[in-house]
Amino acid sequence: MPKPVLAIVGRPNVGKSTIFNRIVGERIAIVEDKPGVTRDRIYSSAEWLNKEFNIIDTGGIEINDEPLMVQMRYQAELAIEEADVICFIVNGREGITSADEEVAQILFRSKKPIVLGVNKMDDPSMHDRLYEFYSLGIGDPKPISGSHGIGLGDLLDEVIKQFPSQTEDVYDEDTIRISIIGRPNVGKSSLTNAILGEERVIVSDIPGTTRDAIDTPFSKDGQDYVVIDTAGMRKKGKVYESTEKYSVLRALRAIERSDVVLMVINGEEGMIEQDKKIAGYAHEAGRAVILVVNKWDVVEKDDKTMLNFEQKLREEFLYLSYAPIIFLSAKTKRRMQHLLPLVNEVSENHNLRVQTHVLNDVIVDAVTMNPAPTDNGGKRLRINYATQVAVAPPTFVLFVNDPELLHFSYRRFLENKIRETFNFKGTPIRIIARKKN
Ligand code: GDP
Ligand code: GDP
Repeated sequence: MPKPVLAIVGRPNVGKSTIFNRIVGERIAIVEDKPGVTRDRIYSSAEWLNKEFNIIDTGGIEINDEPLMVQMRYQAELAIEEADVICFIVNGREGITSADEEVAQILFRSKKPIVLGVNKMDDPSMHDRLYEFYSLGIGDPKPISGSHGIGLGDLLDEVIKQFPSQTEDVYDEDTIRISIIGRPNVGKSSLTNAILGEERVIVSDIPGTTRDAIDTPFSKDGQDYVVIDTAGMRKKGKVYESTEKYSVLRALRAIERSDVVLMVINGEEGMIEQDKKIAGYAHEAGRAVILVVNKWDVVEKDDKTMLNFEQKLREEFLYLSYAPIIFLSAKTKRRMQHLLPLVNEVSENHNLRVQTHVLNDVIVDAVTMNPAPTDNGGKRLRINYATQVAVAPPTFVLFVNDPELLHFSYRRFLENKIRETFNFKGTPIRIIARKKN
């Protein structure tokens, strides 16, 4: 279930972000009011030959004011810690620099699979320069051109070959994996403790085995869960760990591994831009989401406070209109008892499979009531048939006369109709249009 990770390492200006963008491609936005995490471009999912993986541009995690060599060391360490395969990029026009040599040594010692990409080889006449790079001692240099998109296929072939055959997930399918996300001090650890401290919760002592996990498995009322921690108990003191982008990266990785994301918001402060980015990622990744407003005990309240806060949250998180909001206090435990039942409910909805005939009734009714508008050329979307093709998140395929005719607002309309009929509270749903044959 967890996807393998590729990290790109290299000196500034060798072309890392160009290559990153090439590999990631212009991914089709699932929603149009999209929150834009993917524009941040340090971490993204990608695919090559039907193999899905995640990719990190370590150069995007800047460590301020450090000399080049120190920065390079951090980048390399970060890659070693986070990635299954490291793609080391050098500049074919400049040749080997001492920074390259040092990074190559660090990477080599880590014993992680390394693929060496020699960039800016824009035309084949430059390929003689490749041989020099054998002296880095980390394998066959692959000539590439990020800006021209040359050689990336061969590079990725090699990367994929080096991925571990199976990144195993230690938890069985019925385990609900919960990540608790939010910026420092919102109460993530307190919330984790409050969940675990509930009566009749049995904390199992299976140690987390995945590399970045301080996972705490537990069960309650016969349901297995695991809390994936991001607050972190990992080796402290690494410079990159204190950078904001790195903490975002870790949050994204935890989201990736989870089924249900608890997005924790400080009731005293409301949300900030970074919360939105992270929540947006959870949405794009298709995870179930609950907005947890913590520290509600210290908020001065009257009978409108909750409603006002909720309204503000809804405005900030338009694309998360399906996410339930729970107001609680991890400290006083007020309303804590409602949290796990809500987790169970959204998890169930996330895995909900609807009956095809009911789904088609809903679509037919929706279309009858409000036919799709015609486009400029007078063409109108016709939906022949709908079917659910996946769960987690529930994904629907509409077979239509012309997929291009399914526009954002009509897609929204159909989504709302589907949501009115089925209980998809807490889960994103996806609607894909396919041309009927
Ligand atoms: P980063 O700092 O390693 O992320 O490097 P960038 O991706 O920002 O690229 C640095 C510069 O090199 C930019 O001006 C790119 O347009 C250029 N560049 C990237 N890839 C190539 C390439 O394959 N050939 C050439 N000629 N220039 C490239
Ligand atoms: P984290 O950094 O997100 O893991 O946050 P912590 O769980 O360490 O909490 C940060 C601070 O907020 C600590 O001093 C907690 O005692 C406090 N805190 C956490 N939850 C609550 C709450 O529900 N109410 C109040 N009043 N304080 C809380």
